[in-house]
Amino acid sequence: MPMVEVSPAVEQARAQIAAIGRLLYERRLTDAAGGNISVRVGDLVCLTPRYSGSKRRWQLCPDDVLVVDLEGNRLAGEGDLSRESKVHLRLYREFPDGTAVIHAHPQHVLVFCVARQPIPPVLEATLKFGTIPVIPFAPAHSADLAEFVAQGLRGQEARIRKQAAAVLAPWHGIFCIGKDLDATYDAVERIDTNARLILMSRALITPEQLAREQAALLEAVAKSH
Ligand SMILES: [Zn+2]
Repeated sequence: MPMVEVSPAVEQARAQIAAIGRLLYERRLTDAAGGNISVRVGDLVCLTPRYSGSKRRWQLCPDDVLVVDLEGNRLAGEGDLSRESKVHLRLYREFPDGTAVIHAHPQHVLVFCVARQPIPPVLEATLKFGTIPVIPFAPAHSADLAEFVAQGLRGQEARIRKQAAAVLAPWHGIFCIGKDLDATYDAVERIDTNARLILMSRALITPEQLAREQAALLEAVAKSH
């Protein structure tokens, strides 16, 4: 039984989060080791519970998704808050235009996380996110991690309003905040595709040639506007 009556908008967000969790896992945009997804509905936050990956392999039902207030007090759903819930709540307090957050371990993005290299856009479809920066290291679930993620996103408010903005946590994964969950999922998938293309391009061209292609992309797009 829910601890509070939840609105239809909250129920809809919980169902959407459960569906997006399955999709992230299916498409290797996150893994059993973790990740977390949230949506803000007014001053409530719907958030995946701890162990969604390791114990549930992302097969969540809408009722499994927790409902908390902006301070992290649980209002509905069973189970513990995920370790990165502090980051989610911090981002909602600091970026009011963001209403969805995905933290994930996408298979190609992780290569950049372990190399601590930013991901420059090499596709027309990812230009709008700019270069995805690497933030300083902080352990998972630390207050410093929330601070560094917020710092990395500062100045990217226009991207959040338009679609989404993201940062890379060293040796860990991606944090992405967007205007809604559809836009945020779309951003995570595009950024992982972009990461894969950079890696795959090395079989075909040198990193220097790829840098020239990236410059040509920017020039072509600038000319067409
Ligand atoms: Zn993680």
